[in-house]
Amino acid sequence: KNGRLPLMAGNWKMNGNHLEAISLAQKLAFTLTEQQLTDVEVVVLPPFVSLRSVQTLVDGDKLLIRYGAQDLSPHEKGAYTGDISGAMLAKLGCSYVVVGHSERRQYHNEDDKLVNAKVKAALANDLTPILCVGEGLPIREAGEHVPYTLAQVDGGLDGLKSDDVEKVVIAYEPVWAIGTGLTATPENAQEVIGAIRNRLAESHGNTADRVRILYGGSVKGSNVAGIMEQPDIDGALVGGASLDAQDFALICRLG
Ligand code: PEP
Repeated sequence: KNGRLPLMAGNWKMNGNHLEAISLAQKLAFTLTEQQLTDVEVVVLPPFVSLRSVQTLVDGDKLLIRYGAQDLSPHEKGAYTGDISGAMLAKLGCSYVVVGHSERRQYHNEDDKLVNAKVKAALANDLTPILCVGEGLPIREAGEHVPYTLAQVDGGLDGLKSDDVEKVVIAYEPVWAIGTGLTATPENAQEVIGAIRNRLAESHGNTADRVRILYGGSVKGSNVAGIMEQPDIDGALVGGASLDAQDFALICRLG
Protein backbone atom coordinates (compact mmCIF):
# COMPACT_ATOMS: atom_id res chain seq x y z
CA LYS A 1 0.00 0.00 0.00
CA ASN A 2 1.80 3.06 -1.21
CA GLY A 3 5.05 1.24 -0.46
CA ARG A 4 4.26 0.83 3.25
CA LEU A 5 5.63 -2.49 4.57
CA PRO A 6 2.93 -4.41 6.50
CA LEU A 7 3.69 -4.82 10.20
CA MET A 8 2.36 -7.51 12.52
CA ALA A 9 3.17 -6.88 16.18
CA GLY A 10 2.45 -9.35 18.98
CA ASN A 11 1.82 -7.76 22.37
CA TRP A 12 2.41 -10.53 24.89
CA LYS A 13 1.24 -8.29 27.77
CA MET A 14 2.01 -9.71 31.24
CA ASN A 15 2.18 -13.35 30.19
CA GLY A 16 4.88 -15.99 30.49
CA ASN A 17 8.25 -16.11 32.25
CA HIS A 18 11.53 -15.84 30.34
CA LEU A 19 11.67 -19.58 29.65
CA GLU A 20 8.21 -19.56 28.17
CA ALA A 21 9.20 -16.50 26.14
CA ILE A 22 12.12 -18.42 24.63
CA SER A 23 9.87 -21.30 23.75
CA LEU A 24 7.24 -19.07 22.14
CA ALA A 25 9.79 -17.08 20.14
CA GLN A 26 11.44 -20.32 19.01
CA LYS A 27 8.17 -21.82 17.83
CA LEU A 28 7.32 -18.61 16.02
CA ALA A 29 10.72 -18.38 14.31
CA PHE A 30 10.42 -22.02 13.21
CA THR A 31 6.92 -21.57 11.80
CA LEU A 32 7.78 -18.34 10.01
CA THR A 33 10.88 -19.89 8.45
CA GLU A 34 8.78 -22.76 7.14
CA GLN A 35 6.36 -20.30 5.60
CA GLN A 36 9.20 -18.31 4.02
CA LEU A 37 7.47 -15.03 4.72
CA THR A 38 8.37 -12.04 2.67
CA ASP A 39 7.10 -8.50 2.60
CA VAL A 40 5.87 -8.37 6.17
CA GLU A 41 7.64 -7.16 9.27
CA VAL A 42 7.10 -9.33 12.35
CA VAL A 43 7.59 -7.91 15.84
CA VAL A 44 7.16 -9.47 19.28
CA LEU A 45 6.68 -7.39 22.41
CA PRO A 46 7.53 -9.51 25.47
CA PRO A 47 7.52 -8.36 29.11
CA PHE A 48 10.70 -6.45 30.08
CA VAL A 49 12.20 -9.42 31.95
CA SER A 50 12.08 -11.59 28.82
CA LEU A 51 13.69 -9.12 26.42
CA ARG A 52 17.22 -10.37 27.04
CA SER A 53 16.19 -13.96 26.38
CA VAL A 54 14.35 -13.06 23.21
CA GLN A 55 17.36 -11.02 22.10
CA THR A 56 19.68 -14.00 22.45
CA LEU A 57 17.33 -16.14 20.44
CA VAL A 58 16.53 -13.67 17.71
CA ASP A 59 20.10 -12.39 17.30
CA GLY A 60 21.02 -14.72 14.47
CA ASP A 61 17.65 -14.27 12.85
CA LYS A 62 17.15 -10.52 13.11
CA LEU A 63 15.76 -10.28 9.64
CA LEU A 64 12.93 -12.58 10.55
CA ILE A 65 11.68 -11.24 13.86
CA ARG A 66 12.18 -7.92 15.57
CA TYR A 67 11.26 -7.20 19.13
CA GLY A 68 10.47 -4.39 21.48
CA ALA A 69 8.94 -3.45 24.82
CA GLN A 70 5.44 -2.63 26.00
CA ASP A 71 6.26 0.67 27.70
CA LEU A 72 9.14 3.00 28.57
CA SER A 73 9.87 5.87 30.93
CA PRO A 74 9.60 9.42 29.60
CA HIS A 75 12.82 10.16 31.52
CA GLU A 76 16.36 9.45 30.43
CA LYS A 77 17.69 8.06 33.69
CA GLY A 78 17.81 8.68 37.40
CA ALA A 79 15.64 8.31 40.49
CA TYR A 80 12.59 6.66 38.93
CA THR A 81 12.37 3.41 40.83
CA GLY A 82 10.90 0.58 38.85
CA ASP A 83 10.98 2.36 35.49
CA ILE A 84 12.84 1.37 32.33
CA SER A 85 14.46 3.91 30.01
CA GLY A 86 14.55 4.07 26.24
CA ALA A 87 18.34 3.83 26.33
CA MET A 88 18.12 0.52 28.23
CA LEU A 89 15.73 -0.86 25.63
CA ALA A 90 17.88 0.34 22.74
CA LYS A 91 20.93 -1.30 24.31
CA LEU A 92 19.01 -4.61 24.38
CA GLY A 93 18.46 -4.36 20.63
CA CYS A 94 14.81 -3.37 20.79
CA SER A 95 13.45 -1.79 17.62
CA TYR A 96 9.97 -0.91 18.87
CA VAL A 97 8.16 0.21 21.99
CA VAL A 98 4.43 0.42 22.66
CA VAL A 99 3.31 3.78 23.98
CA GLY A 100 -0.08 4.69 25.43
CA HIS A 101 -1.68 1.25 25.31
CA SER A 102 -5.26 1.51 26.57
CA GLU A 103 -4.41 -0.73 29.54
CA ARG A 104 -1.75 1.76 30.63
CA ARG A 105 -4.09 4.69 30.04
CA GLN A 106 -6.72 2.91 32.15
CA TYR A 107 -4.72 1.29 34.98
CA HIS A 108 -1.87 3.81 35.22
CA ASN A 109 -3.79 6.96 34.37
CA GLU A 110 -1.55 7.79 31.43
CA ASP A 111 -2.78 10.92 29.69
CA ASP A 112 -1.89 12.36 26.29
CA LYS A 113 0.78 14.60 27.78
CA LEU A 114 2.64 11.66 29.30
CA VAL A 115 2.10 9.57 26.18
CA ASN A 116 3.57 12.41 24.11
CA ALA A 117 6.64 12.55 26.38
CA LYS A 118 7.08 8.79 25.94
CA VAL A 119 6.82 9.06 22.15
CA LYS A 120 9.60 11.65 22.26
CA ALA A 121 11.72 9.51 24.61
CA ALA A 122 11.37 6.57 22.22
CA LEU A 123 12.40 8.63 19.18
CA ALA A 124 15.35 10.10 21.06
CA ASN A 125 16.66 6.55 21.49
CA ASP A 126 15.99 5.43 17.92
CA LEU A 127 13.11 3.23 18.98
CA THR A 128 9.98 3.19 16.86
CA PRO A 129 7.03 4.10 19.06
CA ILE A 130 3.79 2.23 18.44
CA LEU A 131 1.37 4.90 19.58
CA CYS A 132 -1.94 3.35 20.65
CA VAL A 133 -5.18 5.28 20.37
CA GLY A 134 -8.86 4.35 20.41
CA GLU A 135 -12.18 4.94 22.08
CA GLY A 136 -14.12 3.09 24.75
CA LEU A 137 -17.65 1.82 24.27
CA PRO A 138 -19.56 4.85 25.65
CA ILE A 139 -17.73 7.13 23.24
CA ARG A 140 -18.47 4.84 20.29
CA GLU A 141 -22.13 4.65 21.33
CA ALA A 142 -22.27 8.45 21.45
CA GLY A 143 -20.87 8.54 17.89
CA GLU A 144 -17.80 10.48 19.04
CA HIS A 145 -15.18 7.85 18.16
CA VAL A 146 -13.54 9.72 15.29
CA PRO A 147 -12.96 13.10 16.99
CA TYR A 148 -12.00 11.36 20.26
CA THR A 149 -9.37 9.22 18.54
CA LEU A 150 -8.03 12.11 16.44
CA ALA A 151 -7.55 14.14 19.62
CA GLN A 152 -5.43 11.29 21.02
CA VAL A 153 -3.38 11.25 17.81
CA ASP A 154 -2.86 15.03 17.99
CA GLY A 155 -1.92 14.78 21.67
CA GLY A 156 0.48 11.88 21.17
CA LEU A 157 2.28 13.56 18.26
CA ASP A 158 2.26 17.07 19.69
CA GLY A 159 5.39 19.07 18.83
CA LEU A 160 6.83 16.46 16.45
CA LYS A 161 8.28 17.53 13.10
CA SER A 162 7.21 15.65 9.98
CA ASP A 163 10.42 13.63 9.75
CA ASP A 164 9.73 12.29 13.25
CA VAL A 165 6.02 11.72 12.61
CA GLU A 166 7.09 9.51 9.72
CA LYS A 167 8.93 7.21 12.12
CA VAL A 168 5.92 6.65 14.37
CA VAL A 169 3.59 3.68 13.98
CA ILE A 170 0.02 4.37 15.06
CA ALA A 171 -2.24 1.58 16.32
CA TYR A 172 -5.98 2.18 16.35
CA GLU A 173 -7.38 -0.07 19.05
CA PRO A 174 -11.00 0.50 20.03
CA VAL A 175 -11.02 -0.39 23.72
CA TRP A 176 -14.27 -2.35 23.41
CA ALA A 177 -12.58 -4.71 20.93
CA ILE A 178 -9.49 -5.50 23.03
CA GLY A 179 -9.50 -8.97 24.54
CA THR A 180 -13.27 -9.19 24.20
CA GLY A 181 -13.54 -11.27 21.04
CA LEU A 182 -15.45 -8.35 19.50
CA THR A 183 -13.58 -7.19 16.41
CA ALA A 184 -14.42 -3.91 14.76
CA THR A 185 -15.68 -4.68 11.27
CA PRO A 186 -13.02 -3.99 8.65
CA GLU A 187 -15.17 -1.03 7.54
CA ASN A 188 -15.40 0.35 11.12
CA ALA A 189 -11.62 0.10 11.43
CA GLN A 190 -11.05 1.70 8.03
CA GLU A 191 -13.37 4.59 8.92
CA VAL A 192 -11.23 5.65 11.85
CA ILE A 193 -7.86 4.73 10.35
CA GLY A 194 -8.70 6.62 7.16
CA ALA A 195 -9.63 9.61 9.31
CA ILE A 196 -6.29 9.36 11.12
CA ARG A 197 -4.44 9.38 7.79
CA ASN A 198 -6.45 12.39 6.61
CA ARG A 199 -5.62 14.22 9.80
CA LEU A 200 -1.91 13.48 9.32
CA ALA A 201 -2.21 14.78 5.74
CA GLU A 202 -3.68 18.03 7.07
CA SER A 203 -0.97 18.47 9.67
CA HIS A 204 2.06 16.93 7.90
CA GLY A 205 1.29 16.73 4.18
CA ASN A 206 2.79 13.84 2.20
CA THR A 207 4.25 12.31 5.35
CA ALA A 208 0.80 10.84 5.93
CA ASP A 209 1.33 8.39 3.06
CA ARG A 210 4.40 6.94 4.74
CA VAL A 211 3.04 6.47 8.28
CA ARG A 212 2.02 2.91 9.08
CA ILE A 213 -1.30 2.62 10.86
CA LEU A 214 -2.30 -0.68 12.45
CA TYR A 215 -5.59 -2.03 13.71
CA GLY A 216 -5.79 -3.83 17.05
CA GLY A 217 -8.62 -5.61 18.82
CA SER A 218 -9.22 -9.37 18.79
CA VAL A 219 -7.29 -9.94 15.56
CA LYS A 220 -6.86 -13.64 14.72
CA GLY A 221 -5.65 -15.71 11.78
CA SER A 222 -9.28 -16.14 10.77
CA ASN A 223 -10.16 -12.43 10.55
CA VAL A 224 -6.91 -10.73 9.54
CA ALA A 225 -7.46 -10.97 5.78
CA GLY A 226 -10.56 -8.76 5.74
CA ILE A 227 -8.83 -6.17 7.89
CA MET A 228 -5.77 -6.09 5.63
CA GLU A 229 -7.93 -5.56 2.55
CA GLN A 230 -8.75 -2.06 3.76
CA PRO A 231 -6.76 0.63 1.93
CA ASP A 232 -5.37 2.47 4.96
CA ILE A 233 -4.67 -0.47 7.30
CA ASP A 234 -1.02 -1.50 7.30
CA GLY A 235 -0.99 -4.31 9.83
CA ALA A 236 -2.16 -5.39 13.26
CA LEU A 237 -1.29 -5.09 16.91
CA VAL A 238 -2.25 -8.46 18.31
CA GLY A 239 -2.74 -9.39 21.97
CA GLY A 240 -4.28 -12.77 22.81
CA ALA A 241 -3.59 -14.48 19.48
CA SER A 242 0.11 -13.55 19.61
CA LEU A 243 0.58 -16.04 22.47
CA ASP A 244 -0.21 -18.86 20.04
CA ALA A 245 2.73 -19.27 17.66
CA GLN A 246 0.64 -21.02 15.01
CA ASP A 247 -2.11 -18.43 14.98
CA PHE A 248 0.31 -15.51 15.08
CA ALA A 249 2.24 -17.03 12.18
CA LEU A 250 -1.04 -17.29 10.30
CA ILE A 251 -1.68 -13.61 11.02
CA CYS A 252 1.81 -12.79 9.68
CA ARG A 253 0.93 -14.68 6.52
CA LEU A 254 -2.17 -12.48 6.38
CA GLY A 255 -4.52 -15.39 7.08
C1 PEP B 1 -3.89 -5.40 22.42
O1 PEP B 1 -3.80 -5.51 23.62
O2 PEP B 1 -3.15 -4.60 21.85
C2 PEP B 1 -4.88 -6.22 21.71
C3 PEP B 1 -5.24 -5.85 20.50
O3 PEP B 1 -5.37 -7.32 22.36
P1 PEP B 1 -6.31 -8.49 21.74
O4 PEP B 1 -5.74 -8.86 20.40
O5 PEP B 1 -6.23 -9.61 22.73
O6 PEP B 1 -7.69 -7.92 21.61
